[in-house]
Amino acid sequence: MDKRRLFLAESMGMCNGVRRALDIVDRALAAGHAPLYILHEIVHNNFVVECLRRRGVFFVEDPADVPDGACLILSAHGTSPQVRAAAEKRLQIVDATCPLVRKVQQTAFEAEKAGERVILLGHAGHPEVIGILGHCPPGTIELVRGPGDLANLPPDDGRPVRLLTQTTLNADEVAVFQQKLAEVFTDIRLDRAQVCYATRDRQQAVRELAKKVEYMLILGSFHSSNAARLLETARKADVAARQIDTPEELVAGDLAGIRKLGLSAGASVPDELVDRTVARLAEWGFVLSREG
Ligand code: SF4
Repeated sequence: MDKRRLFLAESMGMCNGVRRALDIVDRALAAGHAPLYILHEIVHNNFVVECLRRRGVFFVEDPADVPDGACLILSAHGTSPQVRAAAEKRLQIVDATCPLVRKVQQTAFEAEKAGERVILLGHAGHPEVIGILGHCPPGTIELVRGPGDLANLPPDDGRPVRLLTQTTLNADEVAVFQQKLAEVFTDIRLDRAQVCYATRDRQQAVRELAKKVEYMLILGSFHSSNAARLLETARKADVAARQIDTPEELVAGDLAGIRKLGLSAGASVPDELVDRTVARLAEWGFVLSREG
């Protein structure tokens, strides 16, 4: 019988923006900031958040819950200038916003100031989206979830349209949205601030991996946008796939009959979880493999 083989996606796991945010937390802890507070989850991964809790970090949803003078870290997803300004009046603020999210925020600010009409493709309620919306006067950014929302927008008023996107969307769906947008608006500006390179690379790697495996596992917490997009990408590439938050969710019977297994991981997943998953799969006979 053929040996069981495990193929890893060419691009997977923690991105530079997440590593940078976690380095910032490490440095704040090393500098003696205790207790240390973080606004929202630093990144959307349960394991990472739990590890930090055990190191004495507190996660809050509102800066008002942080005592005067304490250190508050703003998560990789960013925040609005209003929340930041209010917090700065009585707290020490350390900003761990990913520079690529910062770029989207800045583009929104500049485009609106320049008189452009700003349309943001993203998920309402996601911290990154809330932060971007806060960079323009209330109500000026038009938030849409997809092409189905275009019919609800006010008609073209002649202003240039600046399309911005949440950084962790499905790159193919964004391309489809752009085409639909071009059917409604004449002057569209797309030059900056789109789905980030880390998201694109991981999705493309999943498409490639799907060509050579029978089944794929996606590591990532269920509230992580980019991990959810990887699962969608695998399924759209016609490979059966399952998302897991930790390797312990797997039992041997789950993979019965699978000889060629693929593994990818979202941009918030630490190397330790990837290594543990590979080790667990090795116990069931899956050998790391490169050739198709
Ligand atoms: Fe930054 Fe992209 Fe990583 Fe988000 S997924 S932290 S935008 S590099």
